[in-house]
Amino acid sequence: MSSCLFCDIIEGRAKGNIVHQDGSLVAFKDINPKAPVHLLIVPRKHIASLLDLQQDDRELIGGVLTVASKLARDNGVAEEGFRVVVNSGPNAGQSVFHIHFHLLGGRRLGWPPG
Ligand code: AMP
Ligand code: ZN
Repeated sequence: MSSCLFCDIIEGRAKGNIVHQDGSLVAFKDINPKAPVHLLIVPRKHIASLLDLQQDDRELIGGVLTVASKLARDNGVAEEGFRVVVNSGPNAGQSVFHIHFHLLGGRRLGWPPG
């Protein structure tokens, strides 16, 4: 596989501000935060995008939302509200091709997104 920034962070070859790790998922602070709380929840398994998910990934991806809920609480945004977002493809602005779930909170989030 060609090099992948998020694989490098997950495996400790690149620096990441990690806030959660378990056997299947890692979460770290976004380097260019778009909200006071902006975390990325990332499967350890390299999956390029939402379009590449397989049936076998259902439990893994379901676990992302459980971690998102825990991290929202831990970061003090659970009550005021937060958002979990996946960008897929050019129109959504996906820039890193290792699937990741943005957790955004700590300010009023516009709807619909820009
Ligand atoms: P996306 O545009 O949905 O693919 O999101 C990629 C996200 O990764 C962006 O919000 C970037 O700010 C973030 N990002 C890029 N490089 C790093 C890095 N080294 N550490 C943490 N976040 C990063
Ligand atoms: Zn990767």
